[in-house]
Amino acid sequence: MSLEQFNLNGKTALVTGGSRGIGKAIALQLADAGADVLITFARSSEAADEVVRQIESKGRKARAIQADAVDFAQAEQVIAAALEEFSGLDIVVNNAGITRDTLIMRMSEEQWDDVIRTNLKSVFNYSKAAIRPMMKARAGSIINISSVVGISGNAGQTNYSASKAGIIGFSKSLAKEIASRNIRVNVIAPGYISTEMTGQLDQSILKSIEAQIPLKRAGEPEEVANAVVFLASEASSYLTGTVLTVDGGMAM
Ligand code: NDP
Repeated sequence: MSLEQFNLNGKTALVTGGSRGIGKAIALQLADAGADVLITFARSSEAADEVVRQIESKGRKARAIQADAVDFAQAEQVIAAALEEFSGLDIVVNNAGITRDTLIMRMSEEQWDDVIRTNLKSVFNYSKAAIRPMMKARAGSIINISSVVGISGNAGQTNYSASKAGIIGFSKSLAKEIASRNIRVNVIAPGYISTEMTGQLDQSILKSIEAQIPLKRAGEPEEVANAVVFLASEASSYLTGTVLTVDGGMAM
């Protein structure tokens, strides 16, 4: 096998929530592999501009668009911008996500709805909006970022695990619907990764999580991004409907 199969030269990628954390690492690594990259963000416009600068300094085209991932009309506008300003749309990475952790006894309807809409409906929004141009091109790779807690569950995260398990069911169904059009849909389920999302955790909780990870450490955003580059590229041409855990062995 040649490493050429990992090459994304001439491809265009869209990463939702590309301003920080895992999404930022994904955007930068897709650019390293040769792709032009469009990112979306909710609030962090300075951080998003910095990601654009970093991608451009790699000699790739980049653009950041502020778009609330829960809004389908905005998703359609983002996809239209990708098609207009870039050479097409080959890769969509549904990464935007939030947590609103608490036990169910204390969970408000708003905390439930926010997480389901941001983490799950957003995946519907961007997949649906991207499928028409991908069908036309008879090619595409959609990569949805779930979580190991979507597989194993986690106390205090009923809303989050439901959204992440929902992503897995959605992706497998979509993979079956559009495989004949040469569009692949795969899921990455990260374990515990060092970002601002997990940075809010207490040091003692952190230590106890790390103790339960076979590789005995948190993962880095770049280690998730490596898996995204693989799933985005021709190196994974025979993979669809898979769930790839990037978790230091946590879920096994
Ligand atoms: P961060 O909180 O560090 O970053 C979240 C990103 O999502 C930001 O770019 C944020 O934009 C964006 N975002 C949030 N809400 C919206 C919205 N409504 N519309 C558009 N963009 C939005 O999270 P992580 O990098 O840690 O997580 C990224 C993904 O990986 C999430 O789906 C998360 O569930 C998943 N994951 C993370 C794990 C971890 O251990 N960190 C483990 C397993 C899965 P802005 O900067 O503007 O706020």
